[in-house]
Amino acid sequence: MAVRIVGYPATGNRPPMAPVSVTVDCCICGEPLACRWTDSFGIGACLCCGAPYKILPRDQEDQSMLLQDWKPILKRYWEEKHRNVDPGAYNFPGSSYEVATQEDVDTLESWLEVHRDQLPARS
Ligand SMILES: [Zn+2]
Repeated sequence: MAVRIVGYPATGNRPPMAPVSVTVDCCICGEPLACRWTDSFGIGACLCCGAPYKILPRDQEDQSMLLQDWKPILKRYWEEKHRNVDPGAYNFPGSSYEVATQEDVDTLESWLEVHRDQLPARS
């Protein structure tokens, strides 16, 4: 099912936002999917949790860019910390699209280190 575009919200001082999708929920935070743009063409990141999605072209269903094996552990991270689950993903360093902070990066890295024995095996 293709996602319906319902509008381009005003952005104020925030980074430019991608079209709002209303027909799917984010696979990590469970909120109705709305994305901000990234530096990578067609890739948006969830405004709530930062999970990246392929949102262009519009005639296809939005697709999570997270590896399937990582979704359960990142969902747990989100539920525990409520912080960006993929800081820096699909952005150049220093990008104006990036909303994650260094603290987001440090918190995620520390949490993953503590849960290292539960992480998916590298393929
Ligand atoms: Zn989300």
